[in-house]
Amino acid sequence: NKQVIFKDYVNGYPKESDMVVTSDATVRLELPKNEDGQVLLKNLYLSCDPYMRGRMSKRLEGSYTPPFTPGLPISGYGVARVLDSTHPKFNKGDLVSGITNWEEYSLIMNTESLIKVQQTDISLSYYTGILGMAGVTAYAGFYEICAPKKGDTVFVSAASGAVGQLVGQFAKLSGCYVVGSAGTKEKVDLLKNDFGFDEAFNYKEEQDLNIALKRYFPDGIDIYFENVGGKMLDAVLCNMRVHGRIAVCGMISQYNLNRPEGINNLMFLILKRIKMEGFLVVDYHHLYPKLFEMVLPLIREGKITYVEDTVEGLDNAPAALVGLFSGKNVGKQVVAIARE
Ligand code: NDP
Repeated sequence: NKQVIFKDYVNGYPKESDMVVTSDATVRLELPKNEDGQVLLKNLYLSCDPYMRGRMSKRLEGSYTPPFTPGLPISGYGVARVLDSTHPKFNKGDLVSGITNWEEYSLIMNTESLIKVQQTDISLSYYTGILGMAGVTAYAGFYEICAPKKGDTVFVSAASGAVGQLVGQFAKLSGCYVVGSAGTKEKVDLLKNDFGFDEAFNYKEEQDLNIALKRYFPDGIDIYFENVGGKMLDAVLCNMRVHGRIAVCGMISQYNLNRPEGINNLMFLILKRIKMEGFLVVDYHHLYPKLFEMVLPLIREGKITYVEDTVEGLDNAPAALVGLFSGKNVGKQVVAIARE
């Protein structure tokens, strides 16, 4: 059973060498005889997500997920086939998505997060993104927190990623004007040509983010979908319109810093009567049916574009995870380890 083992707690930027890929031939791939409620999984697709950086730290104040345990496999969202089950809800052969381990086969004792995959005409990997955590995050953050109206001006940072690409397209479907930022020319082209953003820019090439935002939003921003934090947030605050909304989804620019950057422009929250709200996807799992109702027809009719960045095999998983923090991924980062 090949595994990606978490070596030790990380300080600063994570590195490939913080994980090691090993094979343990002695592992017995069978369910314990006298304990019910467990499943044996063959893992198919694994999801690389920025929140996993928090789990690489010993203790993150206020964190909602426990740290990884040094010496044990990384765990995270994935899609798998049930090889054997003593759980009444799951049968041999079922496809499931939820929390699994970064290994070929996993014995899962806590099946709470696992749900059966019902729609098998769609790529199974989509359950790590558009039909999974990233999808509900984009859906909840945009529709519930940003409360979009037709004609609103919307800005999305990390816009080509798993969440951002969906938010941008949801905003277009709602009749908004949408601008995205991303870190390479290739991503900027993707935003404009494939995801239908009205405008996009490479934040790394802008001397002054405030000036860049004024260029695209001469009359200000109604909705900011925040994925990066730091300097970008500071610049956005100066450009919000009265009664603007900011959904604080993530702050990836801060995750690897020992001291988070300060924000200077919070006064605009008052001056512009801005509603700024942080949220966690874990509070919005009830929205899965609504997400599916909305996006399944869009996927089937080709009316939404969903870009994945897939690496093959567990050997490439550590680099894929670490790559999120330097923007290596173009679209949703997935690790494919088996097809069926
Ligand atoms: P992405 O697919 O967008 O991958 C991360 C991207 O972030 C990179 O490709 C890179 O793109 C960008 N990035 C990395 N470092 C920086 C930096 N220093 N400054 C600016 N951009 C950077 O990830 P997701 O779509 O999965 O996640 C997006 C955000 O949403 C993250 O902040 C994540 O933590 C958050 N999130 C929050 C959830 C919640 O429940 N609140 C749930 C899911 C995600 P680029 O090339 O453009 O720099």
